[in-house]
Amino acid sequence: AHLDRIAAVDGAVHAFLHVDAEGALAQAAASDERRSAGSPLHLLDGVPIAVKDVLVTEGLPTTCGSKILEGWIPPYDATVVARLKAAGLPILGKTNMDEFAMGSSTEHSAYGPTHNPWDLDRIPGGSGGGSAAAVASYEAPLALGTDTGGSIRQPGAVTGTVGVKPTYGGVSRYGLVALANSLDQVGPVTRTVLDSALLHELIGGHDPRDSTSADVPLPDLVGAARRGADGDLSGLKVGVIRELAGDGWQPGVMARFTESVDLLVGMGAEVVEVSCPTFVHALATYYLILPAEASSNLAKFDAMRYGLRVLPEGVASPSAEDVMRATRDAGFGDEVKRRIILGTYALSSGYYDAYYGQAQKVRTLITRDFEAAFAQADVLLSPTAPTTAFKLGEKLDDPLSMYLNDLATIPANLSGVPGISVPSGLADEDGLPAGIQILAPALADDRVYRVGAALE
Ligand code: GLN
Repeated sequence: AHLDRIAAVDGAVHAFLHVDAEGALAQAAASDERRSAGSPLHLLDGVPIAVKDVLVTEGLPTTCGSKILEGWIPPYDATVVARLKAAGLPILGKTNMDEFAMGSSTEHSAYGPTHNPWDLDRIPGGSGGGSAAAVASYEAPLALGTDTGGSIRQPGAVTGTVGVKPTYGGVSRYGLVALANSLDQVGPVTRTVLDSALLHELIGGHDPRDSTSADVPLPDLVGAARRGADGDLSGLKVGVIRELAGDGWQPGVMARFTESVDLLVGMGAEVVEVSCPTFVHALATYYLILPAEASSNLAKFDAMRYGLRVLPEGVASPSAEDVMRATRDAGFGDEVKRRIILGTYALSSGYYDAYYGQAQKVRTLITRDFEAAFAQADVLLSPTAPTTAFKLGEKLDDPLSMYLNDLATIPANLSGVPGISVPSGLADEDGLPAGIQILAPALADDRVYRVGAALE
């Protein structure tokens, strides 16, 4: 049914870069056999899933939305993909994304943009717009995304889906093509909070192949989502972050946010306002740390090891450096080049302390703001994104206004804390979905599921 749905609508939505109909049907048939043989089944056995094209999949193309990886077939599975397969989830295919996960609109994909199923002239968010659009358009019931600065939560908000960024270290990054190692997390993209909890429990937990993987048991996420759905939040303290609301935020987004907070109060939660003064510097901090890490990570695309190799024109016997230059020039898009230049500059000798070093200090201050806020409240709230989905092309030539979409989501990545985006309703001015973000202290992912499910 999902393959039929993809055939019917993906020409217009373009959520997928690669559909593996044959593989998915074979996995579905194997699941049917297990079921008729009466074998013990994982709850999600046989439930199809779409995977963001930044996670490596054995035998299936993995492009990261870039020309530089066109035609590359990875020889192994990311840990999260191996866990999906072991539990029997058929993999429908790989979803579209901004090139190397850099962007907030999926317009930076080298393979053309994804369209928002709510309005095909609008963006589905990014970088994981493909995964969010696949779930929103009923092409897939579940998807995996990655969130480095908001790429699961912001697409969730603008497509009316649920997206979770787990605690840093909570889900393995082995086999995730790194954008920024200290910020990246893999997480669920679904239509309900309970679905996200089931998927999170499946992909999460310790992995010896990822040195940053937390060697602690996951909290009971499914139990927390079920408890939250009961609608009793008495004793819970929720903090509204003063710096992430107000002027400059779309009125309809703010209206749905305020209503959601009132709903929580109706269920017995106590609301306090908290202040996180350094959050206003989070965007600037992120756009130094992220390009620094990304420029270093992308050095491996050297025309020798993976994917594309371009020989420079008019050079009789090109050197390795000539080939590398020609390949990177042709293979990387503008946004990727912009960040390589920014990151290389921020890391260069003489500037390192002034930019990268300073950003790391501000990062510590942001974490202290979180600590102070979590001393006053069990979870923190804000709208997920400042606006609903904007029109395709609207911000493409203005990188700074594109970056501003992640104002509310970035602090969680800088500090490693978990967050969920849950639909909060439709904004009055355009009838498009808005999202509320719920943040919790590191390793307390269960809290975001409890409060998220209460709002559903
Ligand atoms: N939009 C942000 C960026 O461009 C977030 C990306 C992400 O989370 N992968 O960096």
